[in-house]
Amino acid sequence: MTAKGQHLSKETRDKIRQANLGKKLSPETREKMSISRTGEKHPFYGKHHSEKSIEKMRISRKGKCIGENNPNFGEKAWNWKGDKVGYYALHDWVTKYLPKPGLCSICSEKKKLELCNISPTYNPETYTRDLGNWLWSCQLCHVKSDGRLARFNSFPHEKRVEMAKKAWVTKKLKNEQ
Ligand SMILES: [Zn+2]
Repeated sequence: MTAKGQHLSKETRDKIRQANLGKKLSPETREKMSISRTGEKHPFYGKHHSEKSIEKMRISRKGKCIGENNPNFGEKAWNWKGDKVGYYALHDWVTKYLPKPGLCSICSEKKKLELCNISPTYNPETYTRDLGNWLWSCQLCHVKSDGRLARFNSFPHEKRVEMAKKAWVTKKLKNEQ
């Protein structure tokens, strides 16, 4: 649909699609798009699927999202941090050698701390054994700083419930109650 609410013909839509195929958006544009659809601005914000449509989705998705066919497989995972094996080894090493302060390095509150890289997303230049690239922060500051919280909040309600079954989210929700 156009901004005026008109439907475009299939031909027109195909033309637009062809013209846009393979185009990569700049990080700035992607960031703007992300912000414009986050939280309350998300088209599905506050809405819920009916039981009937959930059942429909369930049937049509059955057996299609296993392993590599899962849209969240590997690096597409919403909380993906790069090569997992390498990441855990590095994480362990930094955990061992980076002195742990008593307070969160970001909000200065006395909370349980976790290791946090200075780059919000996986970056081969900062995911190194240089201790200056790492800091200890609380979980909330961590998910805020690496964009996971914003990303989590941008998902429709059901997706969030589904994701809430995963560890940190469950903890976050418990903390809010
Ligand atoms: Zn903090």
